[in-house]
Amino acid sequence: MDKIARLIRPEIRALTAYQVPPTGFLVKLDAMENPYGWPEPLTEAWLAELRGASLNRYPDPTANALRIRLRHIMGVPEDAAVLLGNGSDELIQMIALALAAPGRVMLAPEPTFVMYRIIAASAGMNFVGVPLMDDFGLPPATFLKAVDEHQPAVIFLAYPNNPTGNLFNEEHMRAIIKASPGLVVVDEAYHVFAGKSFMAELAEYDNLLILRTLSKMGLAGLRLGLLAGPRNWLAEIDKVRLPYNINVLTQISADFALRHHEVIEAQARRICEDRGKLMKKMRQLDPLTVYPSSANFILFRVPGGRASQIFEMLKSAGVLIKNMHGQGALQDCLRVTIGRPEENSAFFEALAASL
Ligand SMILES: *Cc1c(COP(=O)(O)O)cnc(C)c1O
Repeated sequence: MDKIARLIRPEIRALTAYQVPPTGFLVKLDAMENPYGWPEPLTEAWLAELRGASLNRYPDPTANALRIRLRHIMGVPEDAAVLLGNGSDELIQMIALALAAPGRVMLAPEPTFVMYRIIAASAGMNFVGVPLMDDFGLPPATFLKAVDEHQPAVIFLAYPNNPTGNLFNEEHMRAIIKASPGLVVVDEAYHVFAGKSFMAELAEYDNLLILRTLSKMGLAGLRLGLLAGPRNWLAEIDKVRLPYNINVLTQISADFALRHHEVIEAQARRICEDRGKLMKKMRQLDPLTVYPSSANFILFRVPGGRASQIFEMLKSAGVLIKNMHGQGALQDCLRVTIGRPEENSAFFEALAASL
């Protein structure tokens, strides 16, 4: 035990490992997964392509064919470079590893995606969180003051934000990008549901990077993320990438999926429609505060002190959502991912019963 205390860095010992609940729930609405699979003929065609995979060979180290297809589908500007990661989590880690030095700061609003803080600590950066306003909007003056004070090496802005679901004000974001002495990463993990993006503005700034992932689009099991930005920045970040980080099966499968992009787009449209329907029903449940969402989940606040009880009651009814309670601004908050219509109904019935 004393060896652990002596050798593991204190900031690592202070962390709590990222928690993933056991699966096996009838209705799993906790992780922003797309609930839809592929039609059978598509699955067959995919399996036929996998048959040609050479598992005895290393993958294409830069996944060139896949990168070209991704550039096209994601609308990456001609002049920008693209880097792929084993999930966008790995790209966040690569950015932190390339920037980390004693005293260097990673800044982000809070609450936001918890991996920023965890990765900052593990890479050896100081994480500074700036509290969002009551409506989860960016507080422009406070944020700019924090930028001035901490001179962050990197700022992460999730757009839309997780777990709150909202898109930040674009003008506030532009002011932050302009005022930032370091990099600003706009994390567009939920782009397919939001329809808004800073991708087209890449050319206007020398410190802006755009992060995307295929996870929330229906390929969470593949682990593929994309970072787009200025060539000179990405050439440096690429140096901390482990060789062959995108495996053979992911390269083939993602390329296949992207050739059938219309299937993913149709699923996303469906999810957005169902988000609207579920939100409308939830807003009729009097004691709830339901926050607007541009993502594939809904954050809501339950009557004071009841979040964990309601979460457990849903669990007993076979419905797993995410309990966000206990993190300051998220007091009494729960988050539900949009699933299939029958799953959304099961969630809604269980929620109404629990209230
Ligand atoms: C889910 C999520 C990610 C991580 O996605 P992966 O590509 O699966 O690693 C990154 N950023 C935000 C804001 C997310 O919600």
